[in-house]
Amino acid sequence: MDNISERKKTTRGREGGKIKRTSGGQGLRKIVQAGWAVITNGYMKAFSPDGPMIYQGPLKQVCTPGMNCYSCPGALGSCPIGSMQAVLSGRSRDFPFYVVGYLALIGLFVGRFICGWLCIFGLIQELLYKIPTPKLRVPEGPDRILRYLKYGILLVMVVGLPLLYRNEAGAGEPFFCKYICPVGTLEGGVPLMILNETLRNVIGWLFAWKFLILVICIAASIFIYRPFCKYICPLGAFYGLFQKVSLVRMRHDEGLCVDCGLCAKKCRMDVDPRVSPNSSECIRCRACIKACPMSALSMGIGSSDNVTEAEEGGKVV
Ligand code: SF4
Ligand code: SF4
Repeated sequence: MDNISERKKTTRGREGGKIKRTSGGQGLRKIVQAGWAVITNGYMKAFSPDGPMIYQGPLKQVCTPGMNCYSCPGALGSCPIGSMQAVLSGRSRDFPFYVVGYLALIGLFVGRFICGWLCIFGLIQELLYKIPTPKLRVPEGPDRILRYLKYGILLVMVVGLPLLYRNEAGAGEPFFCKYICPVGTLEGGVPLMILNETLRNVIGWLFAWKFLILVICIAASIFIYRPFCKYICPLGAFYGLFQKVSLVRMRHDEGLCVDCGLCAKKCRMDVDPRVSPNSSECIRCRACIKACPMSALSMGIGSSDNVTEAEEGGKVV
């Protein structure tokens, strides 16, 4: 207890009685996001006029941890959501053990850290949000309902329909990839159309529909922070299921917190880390940790969500 009071006094003293505002410190995260996007889409040969349309070498057997369309000309890995549907919609209706196990392992280890650090579409949305316009916040009621949409999409479009639907020839369909995914349209559909004249000549209603979804996503991202991640992304929904039990987790120290609310204000995913440090909506961007003037928030391995003053003074939690 004494140590905590002392620390609060010291920190406040340093700031002359005021709480210091700090920047989000997001530079490193941007570098990692951009670096990862380049590394995982680095097959440049596919972009040359006489090169292959997409990379199909051995690395394509491996899934990337974030959304990254299989059909992106430069993609070196496969998208886990696309792979999951490919297996489920196969004639033998196999269970995608490899993909589910792989994603569960990542989820158990880091939760939605992947969304914040290793997703190219997350980065694109963040860059769009930087365009200087008035920003919007979806009102709390509709926002809360819309947040469940991504779980519905995971259940119905990624698992249910690919597993259950079969056409007359006995073939299933990857419903999410085929009818919704704006990541696929941006990374795969659009570049392939640009690079290939034959494909351009057969553009139909489906491409027009998916292009419309992409345009809506891009427009929404200018005004709302990461709307695809908040409301649509089935991979974010999947990783979110592990957030409360993952090994790498956030911790809020009540003993140090002075309830200034800067952390909640800084969070663009609209999480209040004082109340729910391991919310399924948190993408572990660390902006709140950097913003906290009392160092009351931290991220580490296996720590508990909340530490009270009593716990801090006596037992280790
Ligand atoms: S709670 Fe913190 S780490 Fe999580 S999304 Fe919000 S600002 Fe980022
Ligand atoms: S945890 Fe949030 S409310 Fe508490 S001191 Fe830090 S920024 Fe302020």
